[in-house]
Amino acid sequence: MAPHDALETFDVVVVGGGPAGATAAADLAAGGRRVLLLDRAGRIKPCGGAIPPRLIRDFAIPDALLVARIRSARMVAPSARHVDMPVGDGFVGMVDREHFDPFLRERAGLAGAEVRDGLFERITRETPGVATIHYRLGKGGEERRAQARLVIGADGATSNVGRAEIPGHVRMRQVFAYHEIVRRPAGAEHDEARCDVYYQGRLSPDFYAWIFPHGETVSVGTGSARKGFSLRSAIRDLRAGTGLDACETIRREGAPLPLKPLKRWDNGRDVLLAGDAAGVVAPASGEGIYYAMLGGRLAAQTAETFLVTGDARSLALARKRFMRLHGRVFWILGMMQWVWYRSDGLRERFVAICKDKDVQQLTWDAYMNKELVRAKPAAHARIFFKDLAHLFRWVSP
Ligand SMILES: Cc1cc2nc3c(=O)[nH]c(=O)nc-3n(C[C@H](O)[C@H](O)[C@H](O)COP(=O)(O)OP(=O)(O)OC[C@H]3O[C@@H](n4cnc5c(N)ncnc54)[C@H](O)[C@@H]3O)c2cc1C
Repeated sequence: MAPHDALETFDVVVVGGGPAGATAAADLAAGGRRVLLLDRAGRIKPCGGAIPPRLIRDFAIPDALLVARIRSARMVAPSARHVDMPVGDGFVGMVDREHFDPFLRERAGLAGAEVRDGLFERITRETPGVATIHYRLGKGGEERRAQARLVIGADGATSNVGRAEIPGHVRMRQVFAYHEIVRRPAGAEHDEARCDVYYQGRLSPDFYAWIFPHGETVSVGTGSARKGFSLRSAIRDLRAGTGLDACETIRREGAPLPLKPLKRWDNGRDVLLAGDAAGVVAPASGEGIYYAMLGGRLAAQTAETFLVTGDARSLALARKRFMRLHGRVFWILGMMQWVWYRSDGLRERFVAICKDKDVQQLTWDAYMNKELVRAKPAAHARIFFKDLAHLFRWVSP
């Protein structure tokens, strides 16, 4: 172990050991880089924990971490009418972040990263081309310093690295998401393999509410960007309306959820953001774990290019590659949220659209594999016209 005031040197310091940071650290260490991964210990990330098969495949998530396998989603309209959307082949995995995140950090450690319980405080620069990272070891522990050529900020939506280094970070658009983890009730009403998604203004005026099964527990949550809207009251109502009010509450927790990727993920010098810190959560769905892990992977690849070439302009590659892969889907989802989540009338129509088999198939294809299926242009066109028909009320819900 280094003495207190020793100035250790790394190629990269990664701040934040969630899905984005742990992935970046694991990839860099596996490539032979000296990496320090700092994570503030002691808090479980509030999260619904739904992950697509693409994530399970690409990031080799072991079966043991999956606490439930979801085979269908129930979309519930303001009128309480519902549409069930069977997944088809495969399943959506459910993970508990309590175990998922430590697993990812441990894997980064096994790959060779130095993993520490440390709270990032600030970056200073004494020597050109070298950043000094100041952090506190453990809870309120002693101050430490480390030097590196690059800092990857993967410290979540309220990223201290981002706020200090990326202009405009503090104005990042967000919803606040809140959930309660409750003990699963016995009985057929709560299907262990079905996620329920509520599109009802009283439960969320601008997003949605959910009930996600997690094996022995259930996540009951909602989100909103609306100031003054009581997320807690909404969850109280949802639990009362679904018989979950009598179940034991294990945790109540919430966190901000970014709504739009930032325009810049790097400071053009020695800092690159990944995951929620870069604003990378899918609009409309709030899905962030896959995109955080991919963001971490792209940050690691970009870091490698930067370390080899020394060209700070290459730091822009991470965002460029990400947007090439997912920019279009994010745009479509952003439009969807803007169009359909505005009133109960529109939400009623949105749920009605979900009855359509083409819509179901394309939704699941896009979610499960993170690809728009290009082989189905006719289905895309049909959906587009059906959407318009619902939007302009040419058909009743
Ligand atoms: C209520 C809720 C439900 C959600 N449900 C889903 C879902 O079902 N599926 C899905 O895909 N996504 C979901 N998301 C989104 C998902 O949780 C995030 O997008 C994802 O966790 C982002 O990963 P990340 O690594 O970028 O950031 P985080 O997971 O936020 O990790 C950041 C890490 O940085 C650490 N950190 C913060 N500050 C410091 C510091 N100063 N020094 C050191 N370390 C620091 C934190 O301790 C944390 O470990 C949900 C989010 C919320 C809030």
